[in-house]
Amino acid sequence: MQFTQLASFDNYIQANMQLSLLKEEGIRCYIKDEYTITLDPLLSPAIGGMKLMVSEADLARALAIIKEADQKFLETFPCPHCGQCRLERVRQVTYPAGWWQKIRLLLINGQASAEKVFFHCHNCGADLDALPAG
Ligand SMILES: [Zn+2]
Repeated sequence: MQFTQLASFDNYIQANMQLSLLKEEGIRCYIKDEYTITLDPLLSPAIGGMKLMVSEADLARALAIIKEADQKFLETFPCPHCGQCRLERVRQVTYPAGWWQKIRLLLINGQASAEKVFFHCHNCGADLDALPAG
């Protein structure tokens, strides 16, 4: 059976939450490098974190389950501007134009693009850098 990486984590709790969520839905999956990182967390950036591996046959369904769970989780946070629970996670990937910026990103992130995650409120249109506390 072929497995492919669905996500990576540097946090044992998050990785295992998603793993058990997928297992409950009958998805064939496991966490790669979990023990290495639990024993030596300093290795995490070097080996790319703990990897949630999913059977290729289940990948599309696994992505849909994670996305739905993530959305349900976000809907528990009220927007600090309008008080409505209508936040959505937005991933914005940018590719820098200059070669120096590309090299800098490659050295820092291991890839020539920068990813920014923010939260968008569908009610009032506010963009938040982080989830509101509590
Ligand atoms: Zn709002």
